[in-house]
Amino acid sequence: MEEIGHFINGTRTAGTSGRTADVMNPATGEVQGKVALATTAEVNDAVAKAAEAQKAWGATNPQRRARVMMKFGALINENMDALAEAVAREHGKTLPDARGDVQRGLEVVEFCMGAPHLLKGDFTDDGGPGIDLHSMRQPLGVVAGITPFNFPAMIPLWKMAGALACGNAMILKPSERVPTTAMMLAELMQEAGLPDGVLQVVNGDKEAVDALLDNDTIQAVAFVGSTPIAHYIYSRATANGKRAQCFGGAKNHMVIMPDADMDKAADALVGAGFGAAGERCMAISVAVPVGKDTADALIEKLVPRVEALKVGPYTSENDVDYGPVITAAAKERILGLVNSGVNEGAELVVDGRDFSLQGYEEGYFVGPSLFDNVTPDMEIYREEIFGPVLCQVRADSYDEALQLVMDNPYGNGTAIYTADGDVARDYAHRVNVGMVGINFPIPVPLSYHTFGGWKASGFGDLNQFGPDAFRFYTRTKTVTSRWFSGIKDGGEFAFKQMD
Ligand code: NAD
Repeated sequence: MEEIGHFINGTRTAGTSGRTADVMNPATGEVQGKVALATTAEVNDAVAKAAEAQKAWGATNPQRRARVMMKFGALINENMDALAEAVAREHGKTLPDARGDVQRGLEVVEFCMGAPHLLKGDFTDDGGPGIDLHSMRQPLGVVAGITPFNFPAMIPLWKMAGALACGNAMILKPSERVPTTAMMLAELMQEAGLPDGVLQVVNGDKEAVDALLDNDTIQAVAFVGSTPIAHYIYSRATANGKRAQCFGGAKNHMVIMPDADMDKAADALVGAGFGAAGERCMAISVAVPVGKDTADALIEKLVPRVEALKVGPYTSENDVDYGPVITAAAKERILGLVNSGVNEGAELVVDGRDFSLQGYEEGYFVGPSLFDNVTPDMEIYREEIFGPVLCQVRADSYDEALQLVMDNPYGNGTAIYTADGDVARDYAHRVNVGMVGINFPIPVPLSYHTFGGWKASGFGDLNQFGPDAFRFYTRTKTVTSRWFSGIKDGGEFAFKQMD
């Protein structure tokens, strides 16, 4: 059985706490590894070592730091298959999806290769008589990244690339359900030339997280996970005087207008609703067709597509559309929510509850479910299901659809399908959601834009990756300078020697 410890000062080290968590194979329900859970003392030790290492790294010029990113990017490409396999093995997603997980993280690393440009300060010449001002962006010191299970490569890469390119050291605390990829990434970082101690991977659970939140050396906390934990971490980190950005859960709606291309909308909904078993913070979990005819037409298109979805392990010889969910508890919760939808009167048009896969009966597979006539008071609408369940909520008008999305407490992503530019523009302009797709189902912005939800989907004032990351991971210092008149007035004609 594989034992996964921590990555401290450039080497894999065993945990000393005596506490471990099981790392499951979600396709079989078997334990495939044990991951160490760090104590407060182990976290504090990793932080102290990182603080030591950060001094030289922070003083390394940005171009040299960017070269480490360039090498790191090349190594990720070389190791793409191994990384994707590690993602799929612990998470359960299909291999093409796992490659996408690595790729969308790699793109953020590529953006961070431009660190020298992004870290340039501002300059005002002659802000007053003989007075100049310049500002510089300085690293914060040691920062923490705390990441969820559902993107084992992408989100650790979003966190570490910006933090390190800016000259910080990072303590990365990956999800204890999927620890392997983060350890591999740390090794590749080291191979790329990152000095020992600048990136420490500390595995653990709440104890390790709380130790990071209470450690005075930690200057900033970058978190991604569920909303209750995001809120907790934001509150505790900021109460301790730290900078924090904490991204939470989601309930993403797609509005389908009567003039939309129904085939394209249905294809998009099936991919965005059921891809990765619905375990994406940008998954579309609510379809909102406008008008009865649109709703009837859409459900007719959706049913055969949902019924045709192929569910299986990433190792399957055949193509599969999605794999198992992450844990037995997640499966139970999802099935419980589907039951609640039936009990509350929603119409279960495709029922995935009895799904079972021969040879994988103990795996955490959940068949796809499709609900029609869901109403906003139902638990299946209010909760983030985070599973292969799509809910259709019918709206009578565009305004009603827009209001539904606006009233939802989450605000991560949303999409609208329409042939009308005016409606699309109005929707994008007015909706109170951070990322909007127009005839585009999962609008995760590219690495040189920035990612962040509104409302209960994000706490903090800066987004992750893109230029915002360079703001989050640096402090601005502004210098106002004046030089009194001196040698130039006296006229020196000799060739001056430097002292
Ligand atoms: P989670 O909140 O359970 O865990 C996230 C991290 O927090 C993990 O590292 C975990 O160890 C730690 N943690 C868990 N409970 C804790 C506690 N009580 N105290 C301190 N730390 C704790 O989330 P998850 O199940 O791993 O991930 C799924 C969630 O993440 C979903 O809600 C999804 O929408 C969200 N998510 C959001 C984004 C985004 O950018 N908004 C991206 C991906 C996932």
